[in-house]
Amino acid sequence: MLLINLSTLKEEFSRFEGQISEEILRERFNSEYFLTNGPGLFFILARKNYDYFEIKGGIDFSIKQLCGRCLIYVEKKMKIPVSAIIKKRTSVSDEEDIGLYYADSDVYNIGELLIEQIVLNLHPFWLPDVEVINGIERCVECKKELCFQGQNKPHPENLVSETIKTKLKSIFGK
Ligand SMILES: [Zn+2]
Repeated sequence: MLLINLSTLKEEFSRFEGQISEEILRERFNSEYFLTNGPGLFFILARKNYDYFEIKGGIDFSIKQLCGRCLIYVEKKMKIPVSAIIKKRTSVSDEEDIGLYYADSDVYNIGELLIEQIVLNLHPFWLPDVEVINGIERCVECKKELCFQGQNKPHPENLVSETIKTKLKSIFGK
């Protein structure tokens, strides 16, 4: 649990750090777009400011994301800034917004806040740029040759027969 006791916060920033377990990340992010790749590390600085609490910091973590061009998972190391305001809930109609959270008690679990900061910085559809070197088009992230474009484009019939050959190979082992 990632708990902070808001009643102990002062006007100067206090520093907290910890780990977001891979289990929490897996539950939230594992999908066809993302595969978790270990726990995340975070630090936050928190202080009391008039009638609210100011939170800033950063999350360091790595995730595997599907490259929309090459359809392979690419490891991405991310440094995500954290910036949020926490207010004490005074009414049931208080609505949370991007970067604004309400605490029901002095002890506040910042886990969901941290996850949301990651969500805001991760875009499931990821289509890296293409670079052309010596007439060969490659994905700038994976460096994979985009062989279905340009003059190296295989004839569709060859593609089908290659697929069938591979299938037969997997069935008959030849
Ligand atoms: Zn790629």
